[in-house]
Amino acid sequence: MALLQIAEPGQSEAPHQHKLAIGIDLGTTNSLVAAVRSGSADVLADQHGHRSVPSVVAYVSDVKTVVGLDAHTSDVDSKSVVRSAKRLMGKGANDLEGSWLADHYDFDVSSGPLPAFVTQAGNKTAIDVSAAILSTLKATAEQTLGGDLMGAVVTVPAYFDDAQRQATKDAATLAGLNVLRLINEPTAAAVAYGLDNEEEGIVAIYDLGGGTFDVSLLKMQRGIFEVLATAGDTSLGGDDIDNALVGWLMQQAGVDKLISEQARSDAKRYARLLKESLSDHDSVDVEFSVDGSPTFVGQISLDVYHAIITPLVARTLKPCRRVLRDADVDIDDVRAVVMVGGSTRIPLVREKVSEFFKMPVLTSINPDEVVAVGAAIQADMLAGNKTDNDLLLLDVTPLSLGLEIMGGMVEKVIPRNTTIPITRGQEFTTYKDGQSAMSLHVLQGERELVDDCRSLARFELKGFPAKVAGSARIQVLFQVDADGLLTVSALEKQSGVVASVDVRPSYGLNDGEIEHMLREAMDNAGDDMQRRLLQEQKVEASRVIEAINSALNADGSVHLSTDEYSSIQVLIEQLEAANQDDDRDIIKQAVANLERGSSEFVERRMNATVKRMMQGQGIDDIDKASLSRKEQTAD
Ligand code: ADP
Ligand code: MG
Repeated sequence: MALLQIAEPGQSEAPHQHKLAIGIDLGTTNSLVAAVRSGSADVLADQHGHRSVPSVVAYVSDVKTVVGLDAHTSDVDSKSVVRSAKRLMGKGANDLEGSWLADHYDFDVSSGPLPAFVTQAGNKTAIDVSAAILSTLKATAEQTLGGDLMGAVVTVPAYFDDAQRQATKDAATLAGLNVLRLINEPTAAAVAYGLDNEEEGIVAIYDLGGGTFDVSLLKMQRGIFEVLATAGDTSLGGDDIDNALVGWLMQQAGVDKLISEQARSDAKRYARLLKESLSDHDSVDVEFSVDGSPTFVGQISLDVYHAIITPLVARTLKPCRRVLRDADVDIDDVRAVVMVGGSTRIPLVREKVSEFFKMPVLTSINPDEVVAVGAAIQADMLAGNKTDNDLLLLDVTPLSLGLEIMGGMVEKVIPRNTTIPITRGQEFTTYKDGQSAMSLHVLQGERELVDDCRSLARFELKGFPAKVAGSARIQVLFQVDADGLLTVSALEKQSGVVASVDVRPSYGLNDGEIEHMLREAMDNAGDDMQRRLLQEQKVEASRVIEAINSALNADGSVHLSTDEYSSIQVLIEQLEAANQDDDRDIIKQAVANLERGSSEFVERRMNATVKRMMQGQGIDDIDKASLSRKEQTAD
C-alpha cells in the first residue's frame, strides 16, 4: 500500500525553525562576520559599531590575548603582535625555504614541524591566531543574534590547498564553531551579487586586499560554480600603496630614513589614512612629521597620487591577462566583473579594471564586505532556512527527490537545485482501514508519474498499530548530507515504529543523463500536469469508494432499505467503471453522484451515533463494544 498525502506540497511543517548561521571572511588584513536576518544578509557590527576586525592578535600574557583594533595599542612588545597569520596557514617547515619568512614577516617564527610565531606568551601557530580572531567574530555574532549558532561558512582563497583549508577548519573548530562548509572567497562574492541565480556564464572576481591580490574566473553552470583559473600576487595590496605613500611623504619632508620602529608604524598609519581619504577627495591636506624632524605641510593632489600608484595598479592587470589565458577564455565572454577587497575602493583601480575588461565593474556591495555577505547567504541556505526552489547554488541536488504516493504519482520532497546538506520532512497517512504497514518508494526526477522517474530505493515501514484510514501520522524525513548521501526515514508517530534506507542519488548518473531527464521533464510539463490531475482524481474516487463500501459493510443493512442499498451499489459500480477510463470530468461527476446518492445514508449513520451518545453511551463505549464484538468473532 502506498502513501496518501496529507499536506499540500511545500506547506508541510518544516522539521526545524530558523537557525542561526553565520558567514565569516577570515582575511589577511581584516576579518568580518555576516548573517541573514529578516531575509537580507548584512555584516554584523561589534559593540563599538565596528563592522570589521583587523586580523591582528596581541599575545600579552598567558591569560590575556587582545584581538583587533586594540591589539595595536596593547602594552606588549611588537613581536608579540601577530598580523597576516593567514599567510602561514597550513604551511609546514619545508614550505618556508629561502627568504619566504623574511619577505613576509618582520617578527620571529619558530621553525618546528609546525611553524609558530614566537610571542611573549609562548609560541603561537597560525591556527591559534586564526582561532583567536574567529572566537572574537563568534562572540560578536552571538551577542548580535542573541542565540546559539548552529554553524558557520568560512571563506578561503580559491588557491588554498588541502592543508591550508584543513588548517582553516581546525582554527574554526578550535574557536568552537561548527563549520558548515568552507567556500572560496570569489565564489562567495559572486553569490553576494546573486550571479548564481543568473544564466550560465563566466564571471571574473578581482580581489585587491591589504597584502594580496587575487583574480579568479568562475564558470556558473547548473547552479554550480567552477573555478576555471586563479592568478594573483601574494605580495601586492594596499600595504604597498601605503609604503609608496610613505616614500613620497619622506621625500617631501626631506627625510632619508625612519629610524625608530614607532616612527615607521606612525608613518604607515598616516599614509593609510591619506590613501583612504584620497578615495573620496580630489586633494587632501598633508601634515607630516617624524621624530621631531622637519615637518611637511602641504597637499597631495589626485594627479600626484595617481602617479604614485599607477605602477602598482598596472601590476594587477598582468594576472588578469594570465587567468584569461590559462582558462582559455576570451575577454568578451566574461559576463560580469566583481570588485572585492578594500583596495578596490580606489577609483583609479576601478577605472583601470573596467577599461581592461571593457565593461563597468560591480561595486554596489561594499567591496570589503562582499565576501562575508556571500558567505552568510550560503550559511543561511546550508542551515536549511531557505525554501526557495529556484535558488541555484553550489552543491545542489541535480534532480528532485520524492516518494511514490497513491495513484502512481511522485510527491517531491526535496526539489531539484536545493543546496545540500538539507533535511525536509513531510507527513503522510494510511489509505485503508486497519493498515499496519506501508511501503515507501524513493524516486528521483522531475516528472509527475512514477513510471517516468528513476527508482532509487524501496523499503517498508511495518508493525504500527492498525487504525482507521487517514488517522495514522507517518513522518517521512529526507536528509541529504554534504556528500550527497540521501537517507530516507519513516516514523509512525504514535507507536514510534521507524524504518530507513540510505541511497546515493547521483550514483550512476552522468551530466548528460541528468540533462536528458530535465529536458524530458520540461518537454512534458503540460502533459504531466494533466496526468497528475487525472491521477489525483482517480485516487480521490478510490478513496470515496473505499469509505462508502466500508460503511455499507458495517451497518448498511441497518440504515438502508434493500432498494436504497442497491442504488448506492449501482452508483459505486458506475464510479468504478468511470475510474477505469481517463476522463477526469466524468470521474469527477461520478464521485459527485455517489456522494449525493449516499448523503442520506451518511446522515442516518451520524444521527444514530448521536442518538446513542445521548443515551449515555459514549464514543469510547461504542468503540469498546465493536472491539469486543471482533474478539468474540475471533473466538
Ligand atoms: P584582506 O582581504 O587582505 O583582509 P581587505 O579587503 O579588508 O583586506 O582590504 C584591506 C585594504 O583595503 C587595506 O590596505 C586598506 O587600507 C584598504 N582600504 C580600505 N578602505 C579603503 C579606501 N577607502 N580606499 C583605499 N583603500 C582602502
Ligand atoms: Mg579579503
